[in-house]
Amino acid sequence: MISQLKERLGTQLTFQQYASVASYISSFSYSTTVSIASASLLLEINIELMEDVLNTLTDIGTLQRDHVIRCPECLFLIETIKAVEITNDFFKKIYCHCCENDIEADASDVDVFYSLTKNN
Ligand SMILES: [Zn+2]
Repeated sequence: MISQLKERLGTQLTFQQYASVASYISSFSYSTTVSIASASLLLEINIELMEDVLNTLTDIGTLQRDHVIRCPECLFLIETIKAVEITNDFFKKIYCHCCENDIEADASDVDVFYSLTKNN
């Protein structure tokens, strides 16, 4: 997995950063979900580069990328949606079980999460 990542990203990451990415991913369980921001903070890799790393790991099949609607009131993760649904005028009325209320979500309430691919 890391050798494929090195093939794609080359010297953008240091030896140390590849090592920390490898140990980070190997610590995942099937219920682990990470955002670009949290991985970036934890591994001390800048956010643009972290996005490249996570997207490359998705391309090579290690991770899968999911889009979720987060409640704008309480930040509860309400629903996983397909990337194609997210347009600039994306809008959805949806029930939040945490607030016990109907809320209105738009594109700014959509977060991207990565997790281990379920079929490997
Ligand atoms: Zn809520």
